[in-house]
Amino acid sequence: MLGKTHFITGVALGSFAISHNVLEPTLVNWAVIVIGSLIPDIDKCGSIASDKIIIPFYLLFKHRGFTHSIVGGACLMMIVQLFLKNSEIAFLIGFSAHIVPDWLTSHGIKIFWPFSDMKKAPLTFPTGSTFEYVFSFAMSIFTLINISKMVSI
Ligand SMILES: [Zn+2]
Repeated sequence: MLGKTHFITGVALGSFAISHNVLEPTLVNWAVIVIGSLIPDIDKCGSIASDKIIIPFYLLFKHRGFTHSIVGGACLMMIVQLFLKNSEIAFLIGFSAHIVPDWLTSHGIKIFWPFSDMKKAPLTFPTGSTFEYVFSFAMSIFTLINISKMVSI
């Protein structure tokens, strides 16, 4: 999926968690959600995440491998926790907002890296397809619904 789709999916899931009191509505939580939703693509040259980091991780990892796996997610979460304590739930929300949509694409992900090949959903769609834009639009509407719940409290 495109970076902007990961971003809006993270914001949508984060707004749902905050509107249901799973997370505190802090700037740190929002930052960790956004980081979690974008950071798996540090393994892709030209992605939003790799453009923000000096170290070219895309030379070390194959795209949609380690950083898109359970092992990679745990490692990334530990790194985030070095800088931001009590950020596990926010990171999991953001990371899930990246991994699940990538699993839905026709390329799939190596969720069980290093023990398996690419895994993808039974029904998939190409990155950048019309379906992805419809998905992003739905996530935007979902975000607005959740924000309206937060404002009315
Ligand atoms: Zn990805």
